Amino acid sequence: MFDLTGKTAIVTGSTKGIGKAIAEQFAIAGAQVVVSSRKNDACEEVAQSINEMVMDKPGEATAIPCHISHKEQLSNLVEETHKRFGKIDVLVCNAAVNPFFGSSAEIPDSAFEKIMDANIKSNHWLCQMVIPDMLAKKAGSIILVSSIGGFKGSPVLGAYSISKAADLAIVRNLAVEYGPHNIRANAIAPGLIKTDFAKALWSNPEILEKATRGYPLRRIGEAIEVAGAAVFLASEAASFITGQTIVIDGGGLIA
Ligand code: NAP
Repeated sequence: MFDLTGKTAIVTGSTKGIGKAIAEQFAIAGAQVVVSSRKNDACEEVAQSINEMVMDKPGEATAIPCHISHKEQLSNLVEETHKRFGKIDVLVCNAAVNPFFGSSAEIPDSAFEKIMDANIKSNHWLCQMVIPDMLAKKAGSIILVSSIGGFKGSPVLGAYSISKAADLAIVRNLAVEYGPHNIRANAIAPGLIKTDFAKALWSNPEILEKATRGYPLRRIGEAIEVAGAAVFLASEAASFITGQTIVIDGGGLIA
């Protein structure tokens, strides 16, 4: 049920952290995976390491760099994927930015706009670009990596949280609009995960203890603990699931 053999998947922001773990697990599950981030060298390096990892298996990886805020680079990502694999079955919009930490009263317009462009508009664009292919095949799975920030208020991550709440609305809209064409759209909302993105929150033991005190599992998550949900949502195991959000946060949101 969880086999991805024969499926082609794009994972944005997949040279590090959660995106990399998803790309690796997709390939291990048999998929052809497009590794993507802003830096070509990093994309090539990760694609190569994945190919070594799945050498005797059906999965494989290829590198296509893309800065998600640039529409022409997103178009190139989709066109290049078509050239190399002929189709797109799974899209994971994972890359996101957060250039500002502080009060909503003080966020500069430029930072607010950067967050909305990279975290909302680029996801909207990329979904628009892959959906025609999925419509033609009458099959597809779209996965947006949101955050528990999308469910909660924050005094310091307000704009980021707005953008992550938008992901939850995007998947509901796509699910309703494209469900009749057998295209599914779901989100994953991680809590605190040990990646560079959240380093300020886990590199200091005191801040880490404070941040995870309310988590029933009393610890930070690892990137690989998010990847399994992406494999699930991409696979036939999730064939009747759409418009949903899977929270992966050690229980923090319900405590
Ligand atoms: P990460 O370890 O910092 O990795 C981010 C990846 O995205 C890298 O491959 C990075 O490569 C790429 N990237 C950054 N900006 C990009 C851009 N403008 N265009 C294309 N690629 C870009 O981050 P992460 O923690 O795995 O975060 C992944 C997702 O999880 C994000 O959507 C984040 O909001 C979400 N999330 C994370 C946590 C957490 O605690 N870590 C919690 C909740 C949600 P380059 O820099 O080379 O481009």
